[in-house]
Amino acid sequence: MKPKMILIMGGQGVGKGTHARALVERDGYGYIETGAILRELPPESPVAQIMARGDLVPDNDLFGIISDAINKTHGDIILDGFPRTIGQAQWIVKNYADKFDVRVICLNVPQDIMLARIQKRIREGGGRADDADEAIVHRRLDNFFKTTMPAIEWLRNADGIRFSDVDVCDEDFNVNFARVSNAAA
Ligand code: AMP
Repeated sequence: MKPKMILIMGGQGVGKGTHARALVERDGYGYIETGAILRELPPESPVAQIMARGDLVPDNDLFGIISDAINKTHGDIILDGFPRTIGQAQWIVKNYADKFDVRVICLNVPQDIMLARIQKRIREGGGRADDADEAIVHRRLDNFFKTTMPAIEWLRNADGIRFSDVDVCDEDFNVNFARVSNAAA
């Protein structure tokens, strides 16, 4: 049996990290959090400057980082924040669908709830510079609709992987998490 590779996708504020970490804690998946890996880069690096603007890092800067991270893991893994473009989605399927049982979990919440969660993020900042500035948070949201939604649509129809839409707009985290767990199982 191939190990699982779970791709957690969805817009800002849908709870990708929270659900991914809950799965990691419960089931012991290897965890690759793209944003956290990139935040380790020196602030003066070109990638850090792209992130500070709220833009997406170019695909070619990411492929080496992500393949190194995948190579370091054993068994089932979760990718949080990757892929975010059609190019990244195609790269994952082309290079990994034969080695892993690839499952996309697309977290969905209505746009008004997503916006409310984002407003909360802006107010609270969460310690991240790119969460404290309203214009930058909105730029990331625009990038989600313009660039990541088409990648999600491409994956929805891709051969050789499993795609699940998961509604995570319940007030109770446990209800949402049970749905995410079902899609991951
Ligand atoms: P996150 O912590 O997932 O919100 O990511 C923070 C920032 O890292 C994003 O706003 C992007 O600038 C960059 N980033 C993270 N993942 C990706 C990706 N898959 N493709 C391009 N840029 C990314």
